[in-house]
Amino acid sequence: MFKKILIANRGEIACRIIRACKELNVKTIAIHSEIDRESMHVKLADQTICIGHATASESYLNIPSIIAAAEISGAEAIHPGYGFLSENIYFAEVCEACGIKFIGPSKESMKQMSDKISAIKFMKKLGIPTIPGSNELINSNSSKVFDIAKAIGYPVIVKATSGGGGKGMRIVISEETLQNAILIAQTEAKAIFGNSGVYIEKYIHEPHHIEFQILADKYGKIAFLPERDCSIQKKHQKFVEESPSLLINETLRRKMGKIAKNIARAIKYVTVGTVEFLVDQKNHFYFIEMNTRIQVEHSITEMVTGIDLVKEQIKLAAGYKLSIFSEKVKILGHSIECRINAEDPNKDFLPSSGKITKLYLPGGPGIRLDTYIYSGYIIPHYYDSLIIKIIAFGSDRNEAIVRMQRALCEIYVEGIKTTISLHEKIMSNIRFRKGTVSTNFLSRYIFGKQQEY
Ligand code: ADP
Repeated sequence: MFKKILIANRGEIACRIIRACKELNVKTIAIHSEIDRESMHVKLADQTICIGHATASESYLNIPSIIAAAEISGAEAIHPGYGFLSENIYFAEVCEACGIKFIGPSKESMKQMSDKISAIKFMKKLGIPTIPGSNELINSNSSKVFDIAKAIGYPVIVKATSGGGGKGMRIVISEETLQNAILIAQTEAKAIFGNSGVYIEKYIHEPHHIEFQILADKYGKIAFLPERDCSIQKKHQKFVEESPSLLINETLRRKMGKIAKNIARAIKYVTVGTVEFLVDQKNHFYFIEMNTRIQVEHSITEMVTGIDLVKEQIKLAAGYKLSIFSEKVKILGHSIECRINAEDPNKDFLPSSGKITKLYLPGGPGIRLDTYIYSGYIIPHYYDSLIIKIIAFGSDRNEAIVRMQRALCEIYVEGIKTTISLHEKIMSNIRFRKGTVSTNFLSRYIFGKQQEY
């Protein structure tokens, strides 16, 4: 096992990783920006190093500073968490060149999945279902794109090939708006991902977002875990997740899980990862992407399986053999996660920053909180708005919902705007209670919009 790990992240995930390291008896080094001196991950770590100014490009994305911090502190490995450098191939290469273990997949595996078009092409070769689409970059001033869209059939969706977090996407209902949508998506993609490349695919009507957690060791053993249903989204970003999904029966679970395993095998994947699918109204499923890192919503899988995914991830990076067998994993109950963001849901999710003047956190049976905030903490406006993950676990879905409702009622955050009230609405919504929710649920049934587009 490693003796020291540097955590190249902040927020709740940095705290989560530090906790896993403590249980594995591994010393931790927290890096932080100037503005994050009082952040929880800095308080929890064994050693701390300030690596730069507040802006992410000068701190959590600053590769030379992070590598220097790892070398000075004698870290043998770097855990990138999610976001920031977690899917940055160059960073993984630099770590390798410096003799530091990157806790994630090999750069070769990352390369195969980093670009969505290449990933989709690869899936086609493997015979895995993908959504009908251009399968190549498109351009707004080529007439070919109109032919492709017509052949696919409207509505179509324009997506960024380097996309993430639901950004750089535009739904197009007819030919008239296609050109403009491509231009907007390209501009957004360039600004956010530094790559303006976009493609189009069929817009699936009211799908479910279903994903499979996989774990793989360097000896070729791979396991998949029960699915997560991440259909409750705002602006194509996950907002509430649950496991297992009401949509998936045991046969479909095994089928999709096996496909996720095959994908991992085909790219010689070693570490934890997630294969994402859209499932349409007829239960046809299509690969959309693979995330080659730990995900925000990993916690619900931990609750329903009893497996500590972050500890497993670290053990896999240290060369341990995987001791999990998919067939033997039991679904212990039901789990739901609510992402509490520092945002104003009444102002189109405008990020909210500032001092938390009062904070009461919920507890009791079946409630887990993954957070980094505390009373008196000042939330900076520089980073992601996720502040608390409330994870409820129950023997069945109803108990998980009731416990979540109790937690949402107990929690009190003063000083900033949060999404708590919106989560309360979701939990009490009749459609949600019945489990009949697809990806347009929030816009249609909570915000009352007729169409998602
Ligand atoms: P990102 O990497 O930005 O998260 P994804 O490709 O994973 O992008 O898609 C995010 C979400 O966007 C999906 O869960 C789904 O709600 C929506 N989406 C993406 N592609 C389609 C599609 N072809 N049809 C309908 N919805 C889609």
